[in-house]
Amino acid sequence: MPLLTLKAQVHADPETERILRDAMFCATKVYNGLMWHLRQELKEKGKVDLRRSTLNRTLKTLPRAKGYYSLSVQLTRDEVIQAYRSFFALKKNGGTEHHAPRFRPKSTLSPLKYVQSGFKLEGDRLTLSLGKGREDGVRQVSFRIHHRPGVEYERVREVSIIYDKGSGQFEARLVVEVKARGNHGQGRVAVDLGETVLLAAAFEDGTVLLYSGRFIKAARRYWQKVRARVKPPSQENPRMSRRFRQIARKESRQVGHLLHLATSHFIRECVQRGVKEIVIGNLTGIREGMDYGPRVNQRLHAWPYRKILHMLRYKAALVGITVRNDVEERGTSRTCHACGQVRKANRVHRGLYRCSCGWTAQADVNAALNIYERAFHVSPVKGSSGRVARPVVLSFRLGWHTVRHGRSPYLGEPKRKECLRAS
Ligand SMILES: [Zn+2]
Repeated sequence: MPLLTLKAQVHADPETERILRDAMFCATKVYNGLMWHLRQELKEKGKVDLRRSTLNRTLKTLPRAKGYYSLSVQLTRDEVIQAYRSFFALKKNGGTEHHAPRFRPKSTLSPLKYVQSGFKLEGDRLTLSLGKGREDGVRQVSFRIHHRPGVEYERVREVSIIYDKGSGQFEARLVVEVKARGNHGQGRVAVDLGETVLLAAAFEDGTVLLYSGRFIKAARRYWQKVRARVKPPSQENPRMSRRFRQIARKESRQVGHLLHLATSHFIRECVQRGVKEIVIGNLTGIREGMDYGPRVNQRLHAWPYRKILHMLRYKAALVGITVRNDVEERGTSRTCHACGQVRKANRVHRGLYRCSCGWTAQADVNAALNIYERAFHVSPVKGSSGRVARPVVLSFRLGWHTVRHGRSPYLGEPKRKECLRAS
């Protein structure tokens, strides 16, 4: 059963909000408390014991751990473990000069997470357990939530309550099990994600779709200019100013909109072409749900790889298409799809890939075909005699309100001026 993450607004009365805030503050205290103990241990022994049982003993000494649901406390503990694991992974690769993972600022309200238990959703009313240990005796809170309409789900599996500093609002994220639409397709498609070409998709009939990333780049450049006029976070004042956060939010919304246009259009194409399985090239070392520290995260943020991946996952799930992300992307843009030769110099100007064997293709078309071959051990354009056919390339340009559709200039065919209204 496919899973889908739904964002929902929280409508709570002031008193309920106060209690939520307090419980989330407790989560921050617990997070920092565990961090503090681990830091001491690291200082004294040069290593830390991240076993759950050991950390659970520490949890018993933290009074704030009584401030919220006990299984949620365990999830906070897991966040600490995760932070340490990614910290060590980063350190191993020389990616950080810090001595230990960071504390959360006191002003941070940490998420309250519930998996399988501790919550109840009846209609739009969500009730959350806060455990039996709170000093004020409050055992649960209850409030209304509101998410986008038209999503039918079978069951709620996880709930997280998050505080969005930018808007000053609470938000609920629900992981729900949805009933997928039936899909009788057999087709397969390989996807290469990139910056200039946001998404290149090779279908098994030899068609390749290209979605330009130009508008996203333009949006980023624009907001970068706006940002340059605002005082950036500095060493003395590391917190972002309100204006800075506002800009980040606007940019993220705009980029998100463009990504939605592209991914929705692509999934519709997949359905039309009878696709059952999508393979997306995996960037080396990037796994989901990992925190790689500020530097790597910033690079990832600059290019919203995970965001696109997430969108493709859930949109595909809704129409019964599976998504695989286990094929290494490394080297696929440098390898010639026709003869297999690997050479960086083959990638000539303006994204054209040209090899001495005679193969010429748009570089991202070449890469997507390689990912296809890596994933399915067969090429959509190679015949049994070893002859390579020219792929049919369709390129899509993303506008603010439309997705334009035209033949690739590399094929020398006239551009079709077709406009697709993206809903
Ligand atoms: Zn070649």
